[in-house]
Amino acid sequence: MLKTEEKQTFPVEVKRETYQMIVNGQLVDAQSGEVFTVYNPATGEAIADVPKAGTKDVDLAVEAARNAFDFGKWKKYPVGKRARVLNKIASIMRSRFKELVEIEVINSGKTLSAAQGQVSQAIEDFEFYAGAIVGHRGEVNNVPGQFFNYTQKEPVGVAAQIIPWNYPMMMAAWKIAPAIAAGCSVVLKPASLTPITAILLTEICHEAGVPEGVVNVVTGPGATIGSYLANHEGVDKVAFTGETSTGKDIMSKASQTLKRVTLELGGKSPNLVFPDADIEAAVNGSLFGIFYNTGQSCEARSRLFLHEDIYDEFMESFVTKTKNLIAGDPLSKESQIGAIINQGQLDKIHQHVEGAVKDGATVVTGGQPIDVEGFENGYWYAPTIITDVTNDMAIAQEEIFGPVVVVMKFKDEKEAIQLGNDTDYGLAASIWAKDQGLVKRVTDKLQAGVVMINCPFSAFPGTPFGGYKQSGFGRELSIETLDLYTETKSVLSYAGAKTLNPLNV
Ligand code: NAD
Repeated sequence: MLKTEEKQTFPVEVKRETYQMIVNGQLVDAQSGEVFTVYNPATGEAIADVPKAGTKDVDLAVEAARNAFDFGKWKKYPVGKRARVLNKIASIMRSRFKELVEIEVINSGKTLSAAQGQVSQAIEDFEFYAGAIVGHRGEVNNVPGQFFNYTQKEPVGVAAQIIPWNYPMMMAAWKIAPAIAAGCSVVLKPASLTPITAILLTEICHEAGVPEGVVNVVTGPGATIGSYLANHEGVDKVAFTGETSTGKDIMSKASQTLKRVTLELGGKSPNLVFPDADIEAAVNGSLFGIFYNTGQSCEARSRLFLHEDIYDEFMESFVTKTKNLIAGDPLSKESQIGAIINQGQLDKIHQHVEGAVKDGATVVTGGQPIDVEGFENGYWYAPTIITDVTNDMAIAQEEIFGPVVVVMKFKDEKEAIQLGNDTDYGLAASIWAKDQGLVKRVTDKLQAGVVMINCPFSAFPGTPFGGYKQSGFGRELSIETLDLYTETKSVLSYAGAKTLNPLNV
C-alpha cells in the first residue's frame, strides 16, 4: 500500500528517524507495517527504523520493475539521454557528498576516509557508465556473399540486485549504474544492517529523472525476501554480492528458471612479498590490504606470504605499525580502524582467532575485542597479526571478514605461487617485487580475478572486478559488466539478387 496517494517528489530530507522503501517511484512502508531498527556499530545506538518487507512487498516491487521494463520509456530513451540522467545522479550525489558520507559512517561504523573514498567511487561509477554505455554497441560480422549480419545489445530485463553490508553505497552503485545504463529495471535489496544509503541513492535516481518503476528498493531479511526476490518469476537476472554459501544457494535456485546470474563472493586473498620488494611500500600497502575497512572487505589480503630473506625486516615494521593504528571515532579524520558491523561478526572474528590459537598459531598483536574511549557500547576488534600458521589451517582457509591477517614464509617463486593459489577462493592477489620477469610469471600463474602489483588498490571505475573459483563469476565496475546486463541479438538478413530456394522446392 502506498504511504501517500500524492505523486512523490524528491529530494526528501536526508537524515531521518524513519526511512521508507521506494517502489514504483513512491515512498512506501511494508504492507505489514512492520519495521526493523538499524544501529550505529561504533556506538551500538539505534539510528533509524526501516520497513521490514515481506513477500507481498517484493511482488509489488517486481511488478513495478516489470511494468517499467515491458511498457515504460527508459529502455527506449536514446542512449545519450540515459547517459545524461546517470550524470545527473552523479552530480546530485556530489552536491550531497558530506551528508552521504556521514550517514554511511554512522550506519556502517567505517572510518571517514574509507566512506569518503567509497562514496566518491560510487559517484564515479555513474559517470563511468554514462560514458561507457554510449560506446556499448553491437557489431557487423563477416558472413558469406549476399548476407548481412549485425548484432544489437538489448537490456536483459528486470534485475534483482542483492548486496552486502561492507560497502553499502558503493555496492549499490556498482549494481544500479550498469543496469540502468543498459536499460534494465532494478529491484535492489540492501543488507538489513546497512540499508540507508541504498535508499538514499534510489531517491537520488528519481530526483535525477529515472522514471518510476526503473529503480526500486526493498528492505528486509535476506533469508526471506532476498531468497524470494532471487527466485521471483518476474526477474530475469540476479546480481548478487555476498557470502559464497549464499551465492551457491542463489545459483542452485536460479537454475530452475535459468535466470542470468552474476555472483561476487568471498575471498581469502594472498599478498606475496618477494625479496627485492621496496619493503617500506610493501609494509604500508600490506597494512592497507588487510586493515582497510577494518578487514571487512571481500578483497582483503588476509594471507600474507613473506620471502624468508626479508621476513624479519618486514615483520619488525609491520608489527610496529599495526600496533600504532588508531581505532577511534569513525567520524574523525585521524581514525584508521573503524567498528565491526555487529556483535555477531565480532564474535565470529574472535572465534576464528581462538580456533587458530588452539590449532597452534601465535597471536603477535591484537587477538581480542577492544574498548574505544567514548564508544564503549560499540563493536571493536584489535588489528591482529597471527604467525606460526600453515596454509592448511582453518585460519588460513576460511574468510574471517575482520582485521586479522595470517603471516607465512616462502622460500622461492614456485612455493609462493603454490601457496597463493592453495585456497577455494580466487578474488584478488597482491605482488610486491621489482623484478619484472618474476612479476609477469607470478601474475600469469595466480588464480585471481584481480592482481595488484606494488599497489594495494583493487579497483577503480573501469577496472573489471570479480573472482575466479569460488569467489564467483561475472565482472563488475567495467565495460564488460554491460554485457552482463544485455542480451546480444544476432540479426541475419539476405540481400542477394536471386530469390533464395535452399530446399529446392
Ligand atoms: P550475506 O551473503 O550474508 O548477505 C548478502 C546479502 O544477501 C544481504 O543483502 C542478505 O540480506 C542477502 N541474503 C542472505 N541470505 C540470502 C538468501 N538465502 N537468498 C538471497 N539473499 C540472501 O553476506 P554479508 O555477510 O552481507 O557480506 C559479506 C560477504 O560479502 C563476504 O563473504 C564478502 O567477501 C562478500 N563480498 C564480496 C564482494 C565481491 O565483490 N566479491 C564484495 C563485498 C562483499
